[in-house]
Amino acid sequence: MEMQKSTPRAQRLVLVPCPCQGHINPMLQFGTFLHSKGFSITIVHTQFNSPSPCNHPEFTFIPIPDGLTVPLATSGNIIAILLAINAFCKASLEHCLTTQVMKQEPEKKITCIIYDEFMFFSAAAANHLNIPSIILRTTSAANFLARITVIELHSKGLIPFPDSVSFDLVPQIHPIRFKDLPISPWDTIEKFMELIIDVHDVKISSAIICNTTVCLDESSLAWIQKHSRARIFCMGPLHKITTAASRTLEEDTSCIEWLDKQSHKSVIYVSLGSIASIGENELAEMAWGLANSKQPFLWVIRPGSITDSDWIELLPQEFREAFGERGFIVKWAPQREVLAHGAVGAFWTHCGWNSTLESISEGVPMICKPCFSDQKVHARHVSKVWKLGIELGDEFERREIERAVRKVLVDNDGEEIRVRAKDMKEKIQVSMSKGGSTYNIVNELVELIMGF
Ligand code: UDP
Repeated sequence: MEMQKSTPRAQRLVLVPCPCQGHINPMLQFGTFLHSKGFSITIVHTQFNSPSPCNHPEFTFIPIPDGLTVPLATSGNIIAILLAINAFCKASLEHCLTTQVMKQEPEKKITCIIYDEFMFFSAAAANHLNIPSIILRTTSAANFLARITVIELHSKGLIPFPDSVSFDLVPQIHPIRFKDLPISPWDTIEKFMELIIDVHDVKISSAIICNTTVCLDESSLAWIQKHSRARIFCMGPLHKITTAASRTLEEDTSCIEWLDKQSHKSVIYVSLGSIASIGENELAEMAWGLANSKQPFLWVIRPGSITDSDWIELLPQEFREAFGERGFIVKWAPQREVLAHGAVGAFWTHCGWNSTLESISEGVPMICKPCFSDQKVHARHVSKVWKLGIELGDEFERREIERAVRKVLVDNDGEEIRVRAKDMKEKIQVSMSKGGSTYNIVNELVELIMGF
């Protein structure tokens, strides 16, 4: 993407990422972009799930105490972890800024604090120190709107909802059904509400950066801007505004050599992101669905992502023998490179927002199997609104999987999806080139920050 020339300047930006893989990546990508504009970047992060500094020697990384006990940090309850971090870290952040950041290079003023929406303690700290702040939202505008709807429904006593309405459409956020609402599975509904009400309470910050694009989220963005006093900067896909990779886990690049040997657009890439997991039965259905489709597959199986197993011990032995050279399994892939590879024709995804955006940006049609939270909203939009893929039903059974794989990759009834995916990739490219919506907004944001 062509950008205005960098201007080295004595301005420091402090970035506060949320300690989850899918949130850290876009924040680091955004930091890389801002650094290319001449800003000095300091990443202030929790000790919990800290990002790896070695991939970004151009940034200063500073850990702050996060107050998490070992049982909480290892509980997997992301809601409880985020609530605890927000309760503890305002003081840690203020202390870090005043005793470390401001003293290290006093000639560089902290121009702005840019924080992940889930790190809302940062807004209070910034306000206290009289520093402007900006929010980074790493999810889609459609999901943001769905979360607002959850808050409204809860205030009317309509959440939790009875099973009888699960498949009913939620008014105003077509085509989301009650069962698709982004409600967290990790804690009680009260705790979840406590968190998202604070996330949505934007009183102080000057602007909101959204990792999405007008091509996808136009109507949701328009609604959000109308109801927000802070200006919205729609800057996605963030991974496309910088060429720098922001790797956080060790990637197995041998899969690229395997992809090099496959035919054009023949491979289904399968990954459920960094958090989702599946049980033994689902694993077997997935495996046999893939094998029976007779299409090559590249499958990311994260250690620990199959319940009650360390890695792939529970994969049926006959399946392992059946796929031979036609399949490749890795623990973690260089996903953006994989999706951009000419051999990849489709992506079986859990519909985390980064994966969804990465797939759309490369024109790769999707099979959606969401697990929780925003994934369900995205799966619904991919299949019913943008029509860039298909969503698997709740039955999750091998014949359905086999049909879905063949449909998105080779069968005639998937041709429309493949064409739409290619068209959307082109629209995004246009939005990022000179004069496009993202191109213009990116430059406006840099001007805003320089003016603080
Ligand atoms: N990812 C990757 N290699 C993998 C699987 C995932 O690099 O083998 C990256 C992927 O490119 C994306 C992120 O991990 O940027 C996952 O984020 P997402 O929002 O899709 O899902 P989450 O992990 O938050 O559920």
